[in-house]
Amino acid sequence: MIRDARYEQMSRGDLDKLQLERLKAMAAYVYDKSPFYQRAMKEKGVAPGDIQTLADITKLPFTSKLDFRDNYPFGLMAVSMDKVVRVHSSSGTTGKPVVAPYTQGDIDTWSDVMARTLATAGVTENDVLQNSYGYGLFTGGLGFHYGAERLGASVIPTGGGNTKRQILLLQDLGTSVITCTPSYSLILNETALDMGVDLRETKLRVGVFGAEPWSDQMRKDIESKMGISAINIYGLTEIIGPGVSTECPYQCGMHIAEDHFLAEIINPDTGKQLPYGEIGELVLTTLTKEAQPVLRFRTKDITSLNPEPCKCGRTHVRMSRITGRTDDMLVVKGVNVFPSQIESVLLDVEGVEPHYLIVVDRQQGFKSDYLEIWVEVSEDIFSDEMSKMEDLEDRLRSEMDSVLAISAKIKLVEPKTITRTEGKAKRVVDKSELPIL
Ligand code: AMP
Ligand code: ZN
Repeated sequence: MIRDARYEQMSRGDLDKLQLERLKAMAAYVYDKSPFYQRAMKEKGVAPGDIQTLADITKLPFTSKLDFRDNYPFGLMAVSMDKVVRVHSSSGTTGKPVVAPYTQGDIDTWSDVMARTLATAGVTENDVLQNSYGYGLFTGGLGFHYGAERLGASVIPTGGGNTKRQILLLQDLGTSVITCTPSYSLILNETALDMGVDLRETKLRVGVFGAEPWSDQMRKDIESKMGISAINIYGLTEIIGPGVSTECPYQCGMHIAEDHFLAEIINPDTGKQLPYGEIGELVLTTLTKEAQPVLRFRTKDITSLNPEPCKCGRTHVRMSRITGRTDDMLVVKGVNVFPSQIESVLLDVEGVEPHYLIVVDRQQGFKSDYLEIWVEVSEDIFSDEMSKMEDLEDRLRSEMDSVLAISAKIKLVEPKTITRTEGKAKRVVDKSELPIL
């Protein structure tokens, strides 16, 4: 169902007009209200009046995670604290976390875009939606929660963890939609099987998965194991949380809510804008945020944009699955490779389970002369003759070599040996952090 047809089916021309009008207002708003942006715009020699066409967006300064860190906690804000009704924060593995304040208006916008997102994914008010994204500072839990309520679905706010109880509730309450990270959906499925429950025989029909990179191969695996349609959703704390973009049931790219977020693709090295269709770094500008608007945020996420109207009837531009981040690229013996490419190759080989670890030796930053991949194998291969394991190891090694041109040491491990995480999975580890098996 198209929830906000007025916006979601706007012609490109009308969308451009709306975006320009909102961009002009946003530039004037941040210049006036946020000393940080006023300084940044003055440094770049641009005033709000210079924004006359959408192409003028390139006159505006970029914002990066560093700006959030350097101005921690509220240095980018455009309202006073009494207007703020909630604050979220991203995990921030290094240094200070990113803090995201919301006005009541922002919470309303977020609930609206999340309700729209869930509707786009195929969720309706008749669904029972179990929300297994972590509640708390992480935007996932409350973002989905408010959106699902606004849509009118019945929400079960389980959060992450306590997996056995989740399976029990899923069966007893008739959960039809599950929302969590793709890696947690695999834990749910494993736990269900341990309890003798086949999720394909439950009412579960849709999963809305995001917050971490995953491959199309992983999607197929999840869909067949759980008997659901697995939908990809994207978002980030700096912009709003989940709700920036999502797939429709055609699964052909994630529709960006373009009435709220203006997307550009740039060459990450030069900062120059790239045309539709080209792969580069996604840059997002908020068009309606009040508390902490963001101009041209460099997400570091790598994708491309497709403006063709979709079979679902929506006109909003579609971003392709994120293939990596500019900061998670590995350079193995001089070859550039993203963890998601390794995942695609692994999961294309039969007998491999979607649990793996990429072990590098980061003595020289992200460059490593060492690459070892730990992969779990299916129960039947593991308990079969030794030669099957050896065959599989050879196949994986040669696929890595022929598809990605990297030579990797492959280590096959028993099912359920690699640590499971309830939130975002950690796939790349340094040799020094390895658990002893
Ligand atoms: P956070 O600020 O904790 O919400 O994390 C946002 C980041 O998570 C994004 O910049 C992406 O790198 C990643 N992310 C979120 N959704 C997806 C997705 N569907 N596919 C790949 N990466 C994602
Ligand atoms: Zn569509």
